[in-house]
Amino acid sequence: MLSPQVAFQIVAYDIRTFGDPVLTSVAEQVENIDGKIVRLSQAMLQAMYQAPGLGLAAPQIGVQKQIFVYDVDGVPVTLLNPRIVESRGEWVYDEGCLSIPGLYVEMLRPKEVLLEAVDLGGNTIQIEADELLARLFQHELDHLNGVLMFERMTPDQREEALSEYKRIADGGTSEGETRHIGLK
Ligand SMILES: [Zn+2]
Repeated sequence: MLSPQVAFQIVAYDIRTFGDPVLTSVAEQVENIDGKIVRLSQAMLQAMYQAPGLGLAAPQIGVQKQIFVYDVDGVPVTLLNPRIVESRGEWVYDEGCLSIPGLYVEMLRPKEVLLEAVDLGGNTIQIEADELLARLFQHELDHLNGVLMFERMTPDQREEALSEYKRIADGGTSEGETRHIGLK
């Protein structure tokens, strides 16, 4: 008998990091929700939990499709073809990205958003999100449009973030070390 691990074995993907051109390309809309899309979403969740992270967009594993997954409260969610239909307020949060490991940058973005997307059942749904979830939606949506955190930073932050990231990527820091850049 197959163990559950074998029965549900899925292809493991590496998370793409800054410098990979797939991260700065615009992802395509999902037209058909077939078995491939379901398996892709499972692989994305696996990569996200392994990292570990709270959210992951398909381009981060090299797939140019409008899909992202997240889990902020123990429930895995997959959303397709998302768009933000409303946003309100302002909120500062120390944002990190699995594709820019080691770097956390304080950024100001809208506090609340209303997201419209399609679920794996093909239903169009709307989700009202505040603070962390709203930030996650904005961050993952950026990935689907080929936008990385660097583009959301102030010029001073970007300069510091790029040089810090280079230092981290060149192995100038110990494993797992993180760098925080405040709002300026
Ligand atoms: Zn990211």
